[in-house]
Amino acid sequence: MAKLGQQVDVYCGRCKVERYHTVAAISADGRIERVQCDYCQSTRAYKDPATTAKKAAGTTRTRRTAASQMPDETSPARTYSPDVHFDKGEVISHTRYGRGRVIEVRGNRVDVRFSDGNDRTFVHRTS
Ligand SMILES: [Zn+2]
Repeated sequence: MAKLGQQVDVYCGRCKVERYHTVAAISADGRIERVQCDYCQSTRAYKDPATTAKKAAGTTRTRRTAASQMPDETSPARTYSPDVHFDKGEVISHTRYGRGRVIEVRGNRVDVRFSDGNDRTFVHRTS
């Protein structure tokens, strides 16, 4: 939690260097909103570098998780057809949706996760 009067080392747009700034305003949840340069007394909006970094890391983690569920680009893929039986975990190639991996087989329904991140269910023809 930030405190009023606390000092932070940030870039001063007027001095054109990093200088100590005194916290002049704080948001309700304790984040620094405005700081005042100790040298030239100019005030500026404060962007918390820790908050920015945390947001960026979260985005990266989400992407990595999604990528790990994607079909391996090097594994062989069978061309999808409603007449063909597929097994769970099998990589398929769909003429419309591209590469995907079978995540579940339920009777004549097959759930496939595609490389665009969407899951689609196909109903197979019963013989
Ligand atoms: Zn300054």
